[in-house]
Amino acid sequence: MNDFKKLGVSHQLSSRLKSYGIISPTPIQEKAIPIVFSGKDLIAQAQTGTGKTLAFLLPIIERMNPTKSTVQALIVAPTRELALQITTEAKKMVEHVSIDVLAVYGGQDVERQLHKLKGSIQLVIATPGRLLDHIRRKTIDLSDVSTLVLDEADQMLHMGFLQDVKAVIHETPSDRQTLLFSATMPEDIRKLANEYMKHPEDIYIKQQHVIIDSIKQIVVETTDRTKQDTLRMVMKNEQPFLAIIFCRTKRRASKLTEALLAKRYLVDELHGDLTQAKREKVMKAFRECQIQYLVATDVAARGLDVEGVTHVFNYDIPHDVESYIHRIGRTGRAKEVGVAFTFVAPKDRRHLEAIESGIGMKLERQKIERY
Ligand code: ADP
Ligand code: MG
Repeated sequence: MNDFKKLGVSHQLSSRLKSYGIISPTPIQEKAIPIVFSGKDLIAQAQTGTGKTLAFLLPIIERMNPTKSTVQALIVAPTRELALQITTEAKKMVEHVSIDVLAVYGGQDVERQLHKLKGSIQLVIATPGRLLDHIRRKTIDLSDVSTLVLDEADQMLHMGFLQDVKAVIHETPSDRQTLLFSATMPEDIRKLANEYMKHPEDIYIKQQHVIIDSIKQIVVETTDRTKQDTLRMVMKNEQPFLAIIFCRTKRRASKLTEALLAKRYLVDELHGDLTQAKREKVMKAFRECQIQYLVATDVAARGLDVEGVTHVFNYDIPHDVESYIHRIGRTGRAKEVGVAFTFVAPKDRRHLEAIESGIGMKLERQKIERY
């Protein structure tokens, strides 16, 4: 018996999942799928990498009416990359049913979006800004939406989308089902939920065992002056398949990328200052292993799920434990083992202590021999 079927997922969809190597549900999927099927509102808090996307996609797809050509479900996500990622997963799941999926995000050709929106689209996955554009131009009709998903809600608010999100909510029918997914549950999210959700079920998946257990975490003590050399030594020792290198600012990411390019590494940068076309190009090159190292800032890399990322390098230490967990969660994804290196200069000690106390363990120190 397929476990997904026990949760109410059809034989057809379970088989599709199986063909992608997805056989048994993760804890969040086990809890969330029946609730989403029931039509109730849901607030789900679980770390990145726990399988939240399928937790809402599967029951949404199952409950859609392929013979109706209206937008029946709307998923709102903070970044284009996340919207595209969800769209890719959704498209995989609807290959055998006639449900049309459209990603709506900024930087993409508006005319093309308009044209597609005029046709039959049943599932829309959007970033808040571009979606509001369409709402204002009256080029999208959300009056038949029965399920609204706010994915990575904390990140959306963190990026300043609260008013946009509210405006989007107002465009959907008040008897809709609302699902809110978030890695953390700060006060403003609770307030949003109280305002717009009806007796939501609350799911909280404790801690990040999935991630932490499958990731080897190492601290390298260094100084700001020798950091770049130390990074290159670790890269040489480790020989990653694909790796993400995190920097604190866009500027630092650009500078490091330049330095590594000069040393002939296969590297490119991903941060908020790039055009949409450039970001997509970089992500594609990374997925296709044309570049081996992606130098990124937190926001740009949030939620990214790329197969084959064996290493995460915290070139600049994250300033809170949430961010640390999100970053290292880019490796050690479903069934793979990952390694996360965190570079710590003397002035970073305080942040390291906060991280260690946040995850409840002391991290292994590794000495890097200079050559
Ligand atoms: P989250 O949204 O919680 O960060 P995702 O939904 O992006 O997590 O899932 C992370 C990875 O785990 C994806 O590569 C996804 O295909 C995979 N995955 C999801 N559910 C399962 C499952 N039940 N079994 C194995 N892998 C899964
Ligand atoms: Mg997600």
